[in-house]
Amino acid sequence: MGIKQFNFSNFFDNLIHASIHRPDSSLVLENNFAIPIQTHSNNIKVVKRIGVYDNVDGLISSKEYNIPLSIKVADCMPIYIYDRVTNYYGLIHSGWRGTKNKIISKALDYFISEFNSFYSDIFIVIGPHIQKCCYEVDWDVAQYFPYSIKNNEKSKWFLNLNKEIKSDILKFNIPIENIYSSDICTYESLLCESFRRDGINSNRMIGVIK
Ligand SMILES: [Zn+2]
Repeated sequence: MGIKQFNFSNFFDNLIHASIHRPDSSLVLENNFAIPIQTHSNNIKVVKRIGVYDNVDGLISSKEYNIPLSIKVADCMPIYIYDRVTNYYGLIHSGWRGTKNKIISKALDYFISEFNSFYSDIFIVIGPHIQKCCYEVDWDVAQYFPYSIKNNEKSKWFLNLNKEIKSDILKFNIPIENIYSSDICTYESLLCESFRRDGINSNRMIGVIK
């Protein structure tokens, strides 16, 4: 069965649980999570109770409300955010559309403007996603991303969403050592689900933070 779960809690000093699961794990969403109906938007919802939230790709809550946030991904980036001082936390789904439309910046704006985060108290985990080795696109997509690299032989471009997101995060002066980025490529790792690899047969991984 292999590893079913990547746990990122260590990076958050074990003060918060952050992980990503394969669908065959024992994790059952049902009635115990805040669940976004994702649309590759840059919409973010601040939630105080469990339930299903339509047309959002990012959720933010506080330990005060004790709500596990979830997202589903297969190649897109799951981005976990935690402020160790204010105890606010968030979970963002960012594929190329979300990255282009700066959902991460919108989320960090919430932390800083609405919830009074100090930039150096914010810690961020970028979970497994399709990496620059495998994220092949055409110019219609690559044109939006300064870190995309052209492969001349193939006349294709390769996206580096990891670098794009980090660049957006660093604009908030969040220290680089506060960012952990998984180097696991979902397309290559059979421990992960990948929409690009498995197409309509692919499942989704479930990211959770609580
Ligand atoms: Zn790869």
